[in-house]
Amino acid sequence: MSSRRVLLLSGTTEGRRLAGRTPVISSLAGRTRSPLLPPGEVRIGGFGGVEGLIGYLRSARIDAVIDATHPFAAAMTSHAAAACAATGVPLLILRRPGWTPVPGDRWHRVPSLPAAAALLPSLGERVFLTTGRQSIAAFAGVPGCWFLSRSVEPPEPPMPSRLEVLLDRGPFTPESEHAVLTSHAIDVLVTKDSGGSAAKLDAARALGIPVVVVDRPPLPGGIPVVPSVDAALTWLDELTA
Ligand code: NAP
Repeated sequence: MSSRRVLLLSGTTEGRRLAGRTPVISSLAGRTRSPLLPPGEVRIGGFGGVEGLIGYLRSARIDAVIDATHPFAAAMTSHAAAACAATGVPLLILRRPGWTPVPGDRWHRVPSLPAAAALLPSLGERVFLTTGRQSIAAFAGVPGCWFLSRSVEPPEPPMPSRLEVLLDRGPFTPESEHAVLTSHAIDVLVTKDSGGSAAKLDAARALGIPVVVVDRPPLPGGIPVVPSVDAALTWLDELTA
């Protein structure tokens, strides 16, 4: 497969791991000032919509695309589906599985960030927001709540008026998450169903804290989806078979 030119849409742990196992061109959106760079060739920045991506696939002579973006990066996933359909370039989606509740969890599943914001006042007053800085505007108008928001880069307005920002990048442990929840007297946690490390969910369960879980956006139809780096490597191998 190494003779093929593979575009890997990245920005995730899985993307970095895959780039360490096979030659790819990793693509990052360029959102963070000091991104964790994957091994191998890297390009940074948007393509310019579907048309821009079509142009890139052609000019860079890409033979296959693996979309390993975050489960909530819905625009990039939709653009990849459209551009690959237009060019006939094979596309695979690599998505880590979402979370499932276990006994002791007090989850409230919601379909969107605005739905999470609407539910919050009925659940608690001191909110730990772990949905990322681009999500914070959805919580700007929530009445009666104080927010602790954690992100890699500082958020920008609009933001809730009663807000403390915690700049941090994982990995986190159940112990470190427990300490964040207790030291800030958090009584409700908000998260996207990102999958992967569930340390904050473990800590919330141990403390009996309710969790608002925002469901993933739907995937485009008709595209193979795998849950692991190993399965993505198998797909690449089978393309050459
Ligand atoms: P998005 O809403 O789906 O994408 C918005 C635009 O950003 C896309 O249309 C594309 O611009 C550009 N873009 C996104 N991912 C790209 C990539 N890997 N390479 C080149 N351009 C990319 O995505 P997002 O939610 O802003 O996420 C941006 C990046 O951060 C993604 O790579 C994702 O994996 C990562 N990330 C996102 C989250 C999250 O919660 N959303 C969490 C952790 C990491 P053009 O239209 O100009 O091509």
